[in-house]
Amino acid sequence: MTREKLIALPKIELHCHLDGSLSKEFIEKRLGREVSPKELSVSDDCTSLAEYLEKFTLPGLCIMDEEGLKESGYDVLKSMSRENVCYAEIRFAPLLSETEEMSCAKVIESLLEGLEKGRADFGVEFGVITCAMRHHSEEDNSRMIKTAREYLGCGVCAADLAGAEASYPMSEFMNLFQNTHKIGMPFTIHAGECGNAQNIADAVRVGAERIGHGIAMRGNRELQRELAAKGIGIEMCPISNLQTKAVQSTAEYPIREFLDAGLKVTVNTDNRTVSNTTLTKELEFVQKTYGIRDEEVLLLMKNAVDAAFAGEAVKERLYRKVNSKIKRDEVNENEKL
Ligand SMILES: [Zn+2]
Repeated sequence: MTREKLIALPKIELHCHLDGSLSKEFIEKRLGREVSPKELSVSDDCTSLAEYLEKFTLPGLCIMDEEGLKESGYDVLKSMSRENVCYAEIRFAPLLSETEEMSCAKVIESLLEGLEKGRADFGVEFGVITCAMRHHSEEDNSRMIKTAREYLGCGVCAADLAGAEASYPMSEFMNLFQNTHKIGMPFTIHAGECGNAQNIADAVRVGAERIGHGIAMRGNRELQRELAAKGIGIEMCPISNLQTKAVQSTAEYPIREFLDAGLKVTVNTDNRTVSNTTLTKELEFVQKTYGIRDEEVLLLMKNAVDAAFAGEAVKERLYRKVNSKIKRDEVNENEKL
């Protein structure tokens, strides 16, 4: 597909962190000073996760009050609408914005208010995924998830586990997510990004409906078969994974392998600003680098609708949008013939 066609394609984004996806304009406005692109995005030759993580400091400062959170939600949907993202699940860690003045509930409500305004102005539908953090205590994570559960179906769509996977294996969070499952909160888990395949297996065992990244099951046919059979959505973020060295080279990136294994693969940005990417750029990249065909790009979008933590009515609308675009293209192609 040409770049123009990829931009025009109605797109679905399932793995996008709020703090890593805020625009330069928004951050400059909030900080009251100019910032250089180098302060916000990794260089093309980013060599480590440490360099990657450094870039979250400034945007983090911008979402420490109600106004910042409201504007951040509006800002991210505005950026997405420019490339025809029609549905997005935005994730963030509410406890990182909690202060004496702003409770966890207030944090979530403030973001939802901004996103709601963005939806009205830009027509991008959304769901919020609230991230528990691996370095937080089980008590704090549990409190956050219980608070977020109150907003399930009213803007919040799921929970997640994020943070340093290599230092904190999934086995330490089984109790937290058993309880999350019990209270009816769906969840995805960052697993197999910079940790091992056991983290993926454990996440699915405890009830994760999707896996963030999942790179570590490369070459593991048995686990791939299990996840394919269960219809677990795989949130792949190619450009980010290469930058953080989740894979050492483009040749090692398993998107072709995962698609051929019948896994429910989706392609996402992870962090639009930190990775200096868009969904259009990710799709262009996988087409060029891994020979992902046009019909597979459409399959990626259908997989994303399927795997979305959205209600049936929203999913129906999204299927119609993606399909109508395909039909229009077919008519145009036939007219040319
Ligand atoms: Zn992520």
